Amino acid sequence: MSKIVDEVTSPNADYVAGFGDKGDLPMPPGRQFAILTCMDARLDPAKYAGLAEGDAHVIRNAGGRASDDAIRSLVISCKLLGTKEWFVIHHTNCGMETFSNEIMGDLLSGSLKTASVDASGWHDSNAGGGTIDGKFVNWLPISDQAKSVVEDVLRIRANSMVPGDIPIYGYIYDCKTGALNELPEATEVGKAK
Ligand code: ZN
Repeated sequence: MSKIVDEVTSPNADYVAGFGDKGDLPMPPGRQFAILTCMDARLDPAKYAGLAEGDAHVIRNAGGRASDDAIRSLVISCKLLGTKEWFVIHHTNCGMETFSNEIMGDLLSGSLKTASVDASGWHDSNAGGGTIDGKFVNWLPISDQAKSVVEDVLRIRANSMVPGDIPIYGYIYDCKTGALNELPEATEVGKAK
């Protein structure tokens, strides 16, 4: 077995042992809200927002961007499972600020191996076996974190499947302190109608 698989499945035995009555939790989130946030490993929404099992929906992707698939999840979250308020939470020092669509396309054309980064930017090993397909993807990179939160809130707000009475709040999580800092401009454009 891979070492990583063992490191995931071994702690699960302890979790199962202490699972208690969580098997009786209903499917709809008890606290009736959803968070869209970045997949960054330093962010733990359960901790930074005080969530327990059954409390809320957490939708994660690279950057916490309002991609079509993130919106798909949010619409299911309210239409079928009753969430009433949503948060878009990006963060400081996000990896999505370190590249552009062009850079990602070029790295993937060099090889599929993990690229390296230094002060001058990203570099590929160019070991071969790459693909041009990355040049046809919008990777939703971020050049201005505050602006991207506003844009994501706006994009969700403007979607015809999103009810006007759901407020959408914009925040930036500070990786240095753990603080959630509201972006009033984003919350303003996301306010319920
Ligand atoms: Zn990030």
